[in-house]
Amino acid sequence: MTTENGWRQRYEPVIGLEIHVQLSTRTKMFCGCELSFGEQPNLHTCPICLAHPGSLPVTNEQAVRYALQIALALDCEIAPRSIFHRKNYFYPDNPKAYQISQYDIPLATAGRLGDVRIHRVHLEEDAAKLVHVSASGRIHGSGSSLVDFNRGGTPLVEIVTEPDLDDPATAREWLQLLRTTIKQIGVSDVNMEEGSLRCDANVSLRPVGADALGVKAELKNMNSFRFLERGINAELERQAALLDAEEQVEQETLHFDPRSGELTPLRSKEYAHDYRYFPEPDLVPLAPTEAMLSEARESLPELPASRRERYLAELELADKQATQLAFDADLGAYFEAALAAADGTTPKVIANWVTGELVASLREAKADDADPASSRVSPDALAKLAGMVERKEISTGAARRVLATLVAEGGDPTRIVEREGLGQLDDSGELEAIVARAVESDPEAAARVRDGNMKAIGPLVGFVMRETKGRADGGEVTRLIRERLGLG
Ligand SMILES: [Zn+2]
Repeated sequence: MTTENGWRQRYEPVIGLEIHVQLSTRTKMFCGCELSFGEQPNLHTCPICLAHPGSLPVTNEQAVRYALQIALALDCEIAPRSIFHRKNYFYPDNPKAYQISQYDIPLATAGRLGDVRIHRVHLEEDAAKLVHVSASGRIHGSGSSLVDFNRGGTPLVEIVTEPDLDDPATAREWLQLLRTTIKQIGVSDVNMEEGSLRCDANVSLRPVGADALGVKAELKNMNSFRFLERGINAELERQAALLDAEEQVEQETLHFDPRSGELTPLRSKEYAHDYRYFPEPDLVPLAPTEAMLSEARESLPELPASRRERYLAELELADKQATQLAFDADLGAYFEAALAAADGTTPKVIANWVTGELVASLREAKADDADPASSRVSPDALAKLAGMVERKEISTGAARRVLATLVAEGGDPTRIVEREGLGQLDDSGELEAIVARAVESDPEAAARVRDGNMKAIGPLVGFVMRETKGRADGGEVTRLIRERLGLG
């Protein structure tokens, strides 16, 4: 921490992200093979994705539609005509020895998501999957590698940001916003652990106040949000130490090992000319028609950024709450369902119960799975419960007990209230009698309250709450105690 604070006065981090998103089309990018996960290896292959001589690729129209949706959601300009290039390299996991990607004319450019500008969005194909097998002893005793071509040719959208991020935590938050946005469009699973969302980070430092960018290193394939943040942090520390020692930062590609926290070089960074890009002669340019573009535009759902605006302006939620519900796709969907089921209950009250009590009690009940959608509490039930609290049919304390029952066994809050006798005490005579007993049972506390020590009222309120099983309204109890003690 102390070293970090030290260098942060001298250097400013500059961070850009490169994100790969596997599209959930039915078939691969350039052939008719089905996309498959977790199946027997090499089941879904054909002459095209195995690069047999003479086979010809055909662009997957659905992948283009999905990519257009992503690009439009990121507010990009769509190129009227973009082209595919061959990116030549030795790829052990790609028999063509080139990847079909896009180069100087990508599908889309100049977008924005939140505070970060999008440099480009393009389409390409994924490589096959290398499976490293150890202990076979055949290759110099070091194991061997197998190739599963099922993944080879999966459609990928690559999103490259401008280097607009200056902090590892902000980078993590922004990637979460991007993930929610793409998840909401419904064109990918965007699961980092399973590899359908992958993120590389370009990281550099420059002296505070300088305009020119420093030399950057690229952190490859961080497979969780937490590792992304930790990896960037580690790299910033490493670069700051080099610069402090007046050494050069090399342009290179690094791997971050989250277990050891170490960074190891994979290769010195390649430059574009290393790949001998040239236009793919077997594919026609991508020229989306007006009809395709308007269809893509119209099929976009409400996206996190505009959902947040609506929550602030129309539902009058607090800033933090609006952001949480808009940027967390699962929680947001749950909230929307509860809103739809609510019968005149104020949205803010429902939002409070979703983001506050519900999330908290789910966490308490089972720490590993706090997703409301898969819980026993239906959005309908939660909306009902919030409504009962708002109409003061039950106290907040009683509502918490109902929620605990809902979390444990589900059901209908109205029935639970009846069954457990949790309805608000509306007979004030009954409540007054209990208040009288409370004052009699603890004359010392009563005397102190009478003398003006309001902190002493706690045990008296507690007595009433115990006697009423939390059904009484706390404010009303306090009022009656004060009245009873002549404090009006
Ligand atoms: Zn194929």
